[in-house]
Amino acid sequence: MDDDRLIEEAARLISSASQLVAFSGAGVSEESGIPTFRDPGGLWDRYDPSDIGGDVFEDAFSGSPVPDTTFRFVSEFVATFEKAGTNPGHEALGRLEEMGILRSVITQNIDNLHRQAGNSNVIEVHGNVTRMACLACGNKILLDRDEFLAAAHDLIDCLKRNDVEGLVKLASMCPCGGVCRIDVVNFGEPVQDLPKAVLEARTCDAMLILGTSGVVWPAATLPGHAKKAGARLVEINATACCFPDIIDVGITGKTGEVLPRIVELVQGMR
Ligand code: NAD
Repeated sequence: MDDDRLIEEAARLISSASQLVAFSGAGVSEESGIPTFRDPGGLWDRYDPSDIGGDVFEDAFSGSPVPDTTFRFVSEFVATFEKAGTNPGHEALGRLEEMGILRSVITQNIDNLHRQAGNSNVIEVHGNVTRMACLACGNKILLDRDEFLAAAHDLIDCLKRNDVEGLVKLASMCPCGGVCRIDVVNFGEPVQDLPKAVLEARTCDAMLILGTSGVVWPAATLPGHAKKAGARLVEINATACCFPDIIDVGITGKTGEVLPRIVELVQGMR
């Protein structure tokens, strides 16, 4: 089937759904300038996750200088993030929620771009880099973009000077006075909100699988939960579909190009 026919078929499937859920991965933010996990030349191609270690604040509090690799990784990550905004793929999902079609977005991304694009029910199984979690009381503080960038630059400055006192001051943002960490799931830590994500997958009647290689577990099991519960699945991936055995419609293309076309067709069908 050619791309136009597949896009039409996906639009029909979405238009007839009453409980649509999206499941997204790093590919959705690729067109925002954030490299995916496996992009050649991207962040993760040049840094070994095991060299980066765990939470940068916790590591720095130990008092020993932050390794040069961690410092370079954090600086590069912040510079990349600073340039990145929502792309037409994120915005299409925002429109689907506005139209009352999309119930939730389950994402593996930590970049906050789904929320920035207007999605309100976002389940971030790997956390959110713009959110802080208090180590004392568990309170979560979502920073707005400007607050996040200001804190990120202060962090880089403190790391450069190995200023542990400055780091403690920066991390003490909870009203309870407790010290916070960045609320992302580091390698080896359990994912966040998994029961909620599984419930979303098991109770949807259609799922959009977007820009994910489907190799990071347990997130990668979510399309299987949806399928088992009877949902119909549409996958969009720039290179090749990664869930070929369970999808109903598979489209090879960039989400920033394909999703707006689908949404336009859905609008005309309702
Ligand atoms: P991945 O890097 O393993 O796979 C990305 C997939 O997206 C690939 O299959 C690729 O073909 C596809 N892709 C690339 N560009 C695309 C585009 N424009 N449109 C559609 N598809 C595109 O990503 P993953 O499966 O999400 O797993 C990586 C892990 O790394 C995740 O757990 C995530 O937490 C983390 N991560 C997050 C970000 C982010 O927050 N933006 C970025 C990189 C990595």
